[in-house]
Amino acid sequence: MRRHRKIKIVATLGPASSDEAMIRKLFDAGADVFRLNMSHGTHDDHRARHAAIRRIEEETGRPIAILADLQGPKLRVGRFAAGPIELETGQKFRFDLNDAPGDASRVQLPHPEIFAALEKGAGLLVNDGKIRMKVKDFGPDFADCTVTAGGEISNNKGVNVPDVVLPLAALSDKDKEDLEFACELGVDWLALSFVQRPEDVEEGKALAKGRAAVMVKVEKPAAVRAFDEILRVSDGIMVARGDLGVEMPVHSVPPIQKRMVRACRAAAKPVIVATQMLESMIDSPMPTRAEVSDVANAIYEGADAVMLSAESAAGQYPVEAIQTMDAVARSVEADPTYRQIIESSRSAKLHTIADGIVTAAREIAETTDIAAICAFTQSGTTALICARERPRVPIIALSPLDETLRRLVLTWGCHCVKTPSVSRFKEAVVNAVRAARDHNFAEEGNQIVVIAGVPFRVSGTTNILRIAPCDERLISSTDPE
Ligand code: PGA
Ligand code: MN
Repeated sequence: MRRHRKIKIVATLGPASSDEAMIRKLFDAGADVFRLNMSHGTHDDHRARHAAIRRIEEETGRPIAILADLQGPKLRVGRFAAGPIELETGQKFRFDLNDAPGDASRVQLPHPEIFAALEKGAGLLVNDGKIRMKVKDFGPDFADCTVTAGGEISNNKGVNVPDVVLPLAALSDKDKEDLEFACELGVDWLALSFVQRPEDVEEGKALAKGRAAVMVKVEKPAAVRAFDEILRVSDGIMVARGDLGVEMPVHSVPPIQKRMVRACRAAAKPVIVATQMLESMIDSPMPTRAEVSDVANAIYEGADAVMLSAESAAGQYPVEAIQTMDAVARSVEADPTYRQIIESSRSAKLHTIADGIVTAAREIAETTDIAAICAFTQSGTTALICARERPRVPIIALSPLDETLRRLVLTWGCHCVKTPSVSRFKEAVVNAVRAARDHNFAEEGNQIVVIAGVPFRVSGTTNILRIAPCDERLISSTDPE
């Protein structure tokens, strides 16, 4: 089974997509990566979803990436005595530390660190910025605000205070428990929310201990400012436009998205464009024109993956949402303008042997008739730098390591295939030919490019390239085991 597009699709699982039959439908429709959102659901829910995905992997023989998204230090109000409250523009409203249920005049905000960091005139936003307030007065245990844009407030709604830098711990106690749980479960990626500093990433990595790759969700102004340093210490990036568009002016999000997608490609690290991509499909079988355009734009930019949140987790049309993304991807990737954009945004050549090899592989594939570039990889690096080239032909990432293959599923253009562990390049070539034929990328008479780092099992040594005919004779003449 192979996909006919380069960009990957991440689908968030939730109440609308929890039973195994549904997850299988999402996979068949085109979901490559499943996201377990630790902000919702119990550990038992996530354990069951994880097990279902691994069974689908077994059944289909295709590696699937699982991304556990930690809630992070998300600020929330307390509860209300009598259901949702409608706040009027111009009215006064108080936040305090009192855990008594809230009403139309006040509610608990159980975060003393916010009160300690506030300033008069600072903006305080509730429910993804739908309600806006200005701080008029505050003390160590309260803040009196004026509502500047009213709306409905209810139990545990999220709060953003974009104007002040909060001395927040990167990982709450809940995050640490969730991280340990997810690593023990065996997820492939961990996403850290509300990262502000490179040190926050280091903290997550120290706890993950290599058991999962670490992705940073860029959703705070501080993370945008420190983006270069944060990218250097992360394994991947999510442009988390939901909170980013609340924490920063919404019109600043598209340029930030463009800059981050480009920087991630140059760094050969996967980047996901996330949130509200097909928002209207939560309750409509048809997307808006603007949403289709947004998905297309992320693909034209060269992102590794596009993501569905509530559309697949809680919406009425999860399968249709994935089918929509898949159709948009095929349409964009077949457009000659797409190739022009991708090629003109290739970053400057690096002067390493590995970079020379992947550049050569792409150029050979463009010069002559090549069915696929087969990249042998232990750590994933050879496949990652090959994907940075954004070649026209498919990339087949070959590894004996499940962890490596599953992580690479998120990367642009990589079709991941498990191979036996090899010790000689000749065996690698035989396995590459076999994989290209078995997975319908090549047939008798075609040629493939094979790249690898020799000696095998030492990562970061991409140094060999061969053009191999996909002939039956070649596979049968050698016993690869
Ligand atoms: P969330 O993150 O869905 O966990 O809030 C994504 C975003 O903020 O865009
Ligand atoms: Mn977020």
